[in-house]
Order: sequence, then C-alpha cells, then structure tokens
Amino acid sequence: VSPPRPVASFAHFNFDELLMNAIRKSEFTQPTPIQAQAIPAILQGRDVIGVAKTGSGKTAAYLWPLLMHVLDQPRLKPGDGPIGLILAPTRELAQQIFTEVRRFGTKVYNLSCACVAGGSNKYEQGQALKEGAEIVVATPGRMIDMIKSKATDLRRVTFLVLDEADRMLDLGFEPQVRSISNHIRPDRQTLLFSATFKKKIERLARDALLDPVRIVQGELGEANEDVTQFVKIVATPEEKMSWLLQNIVSFASSGSVLIFVTKKANSEDVANRLRLADHKIGLIHGDLHQTERDKVLHQFKKKEVPILVATDVAARGLDIPSIRTVINFDVARDIDTHTHRIGRTGRAGEAGIAYTLMTEKDKEFAPHLVRNLEGANQHVPEKLMTLASG
Ligand code: ADP
Ligand code: MG
Repeated sequence: VSPPRPVASFAHFNFDELLMNAIRKSEFTQPTPIQAQAIPAILQGRDVIGVAKTGSGKTAAYLWPLLMHVLDQPRLKPGDGPIGLILAPTRELAQQIFTEVRRFGTKVYNLSCACVAGGSNKYEQGQALKEGAEIVVATPGRMIDMIKSKATDLRRVTFLVLDEADRMLDLGFEPQVRSISNHIRPDRQTLLFSATFKKKIERLARDALLDPVRIVQGELGEANEDVTQFVKIVATPEEKMSWLLQNIVSFASSGSVLIFVTKKANSEDVANRLRLADHKIGLIHGDLHQTERDKVLHQFKKKEVPILVATDVAARGLDIPSIRTVINFDVARDIDTHTHRIGRTGRAGEAGIAYTLMTEKDKEFAPHLVRNLEGANQHVPEKLMTLASG
C-alpha cells in the first residue's frame, strides 16, 4: 500500500470542528511539510518514521492524529492504563510536549493527561497515572519506575510515539525504550520521530515498527558514523592524481575501492592514468552502454576488478558489500551526494573509509563538509576549517 498524498491545507485532514478551531486559534495558517506528509499516513493507521530537522512541527504531526485515535477508543474504566504514550529523551522536552498535549487534548477534548519525567514529584505523577490518564508523556527511565511500582501498566496502550528517538539513544535509553516497546501489544500503532536517521535508529525502527511509511525531509540526514572520513587538501589537481597513484595499492589491498569523479571526461582521464600505471580498473559513466556498465559492475562485484572509477549517475544505488574505501577524487556537487557516495561503504555495520580530495577551488563545499563531518562524529582537520572560513 502506498502512503497517502500530502495535503496543502488543514481542511484536508478531516479533523473535527473542535480541533480545527483550536488550530485556527493557534494562528497556524497551513501544515508544515512534515505535517502535510505524516498526518494522512498516521490517520490511516500506518506506522511512520518521520525524519525532519528541529522546528519543523513534528509534535503536532503526531499529536493531532493521537487525539483522534484516543477519541475513537472506548472511555477508560478505573484502573485502566493510558491509551497514548509519548516517550521523549529529557524532562524539559517531555514538559514541552505536555504543554501541547494540554493545549489540544485537555482544553479541547477534556482528555486526561499526565507527564511522567525525572526530576519532579514521583508520588504526584504516580497518582495522576492511577487516576487514569488517557495520554501520558514520559521519559523512558521514569516510565519504567512507574510500571515497576505498579502505578500503571501498558496493557491498553495502542498508540506509541518515540519522539527525538536519536537523542533518546544518544543518552543511553535504548534498553529502556526497547523494554517499554516490548511490553506494549504488537497490534499498536507506532511512530518514530528523529532529526537524523543513523544506523542505531534504523535498527530500533526495524524492531519496534511494522512496515513503516518513511518520511524524510530536507537533508538526507547525517553521514554514516561507521565510515571514517579523511580529508586531503592539496594545491593542484595534478597533486590529487599523484596522491591517488601513491596510495591506491595500499587501499586495494584491504578491499574494493570506489573512486568518484564528478565529470565524465575527467573520469576517463583518471581511469587512463590508473591503467597506465598497470592497475586493473573498471570505469562507468552515463555515456557508456548499459550492457558495458552492467558488465563492469558485475566484474567489480565479483572482485575480478578491485577498483572502480565512476561518476555519480552511474554509481546510483550501488550496494556492494566488498567496498572498503570510497575516494572522492572530486568533491560531490552537494553535501547530500557526498553523504550518498560515502554511504557506498560502511554498510551493515562493517567499517569503511572515505577520502575526500580538495583544492582551493572547493572552498564553497568546505563549510558543508565541516558540518557533515561534525554530524558524523568525525575529526575535522585544521586545514579544512581554514578553507571553510577563508
Ligand atoms: P520539532 O518537534 O519538529 O522540533 P515543534 O513541534 O516543537 O518542532 O514545533 C516548532 C514550532 O512550530 C512550535 O512553536 C510550534 O507551535 C510551531 N508550529 C507547529 N506547527 C505549525 C504550523 N503548521 N504552522 C506554524 N507553526 C507551527
Ligand atoms: Mg520535537
């Protein structure tokens, strides 16, 4: 089933008049992009992974459909646990979400809600749960405390939100999040929101979500941390070539090597220089016949040819586990392409290495690369910093 189409106006969500009024009062004029895409899918009952940067309106994207879901359920009997559970990494964030839950859930529909987070009164929070909160916002650790002390249980939860999932994992809450998720009925609806989509998140999503709709907004997300990135700044293009010729044997000895060259003509040049130095290489770019490209890729996959020179067009979607080293002989045309290129290695948890060769001419790309390296916990060389700020 393909996900529903995004909508351009609040009216298309078919929310009831009460919620529409509240939205109008909040002076939002139209759905943000993540809301436009996520809300129709969530209202259809699908699990959703939403990746979008901070400030893109993710809270309302899950909260409004959550309210619709809770209103559809039979009302609580005394002693019933919550229907909707939102997990967030920190107390501040939980409070912030709770404010929105009250604004739309309690004020509009008179639903009972509780915020269960570290740092504030455990007893009061326990009481709020015992009195039967229908929607609970919680930090993972405190939620587990509450379950252990029998202040509530998760039997009735049918709607689970993992908000800022990347931060929850960064803060070391993965065991708690998994434990909570494993205690909730499998036929629930689960949403996962994150500003980035790293490997750890992917693994959690695979275990906690069922056939999710993926909504990724803006940037591709951050580069894979499992790829160690090096940056080499040289004075001239010819120095890039001599660096490559000097190091290629050592790279090829530890696995397959993929070399990205931005322009077709240059890819021919690089290929010829390597061939002249007696290296066994393959070349693919967009002007070669499909049969030729298929043949070269096949040889590369089979490791008959250990080195492949490629342009971006030709390398799209390449999934070759033996690739150990990616070399950006030319920098990518944009940072998403860079992320995509280096993502050809370091797959399925294997370590990978990426080299990016640069000259003065690549000044414009430098600040983007700095952010990319920082986002992936990589070392940022001094020379790159200088190039980026110059
Ligand atoms: P995120 O979780 O993606 O970081 P938030 O949900 O915290 O973002 O929303 C960021 C801000 O945008 C909040 O102040 C929120 O009230 C506001 N906001 C949410 N939806 C809309 C909208 N459709 N139009 C305008 N502002 C919105
Ligand atoms: Mg948020």
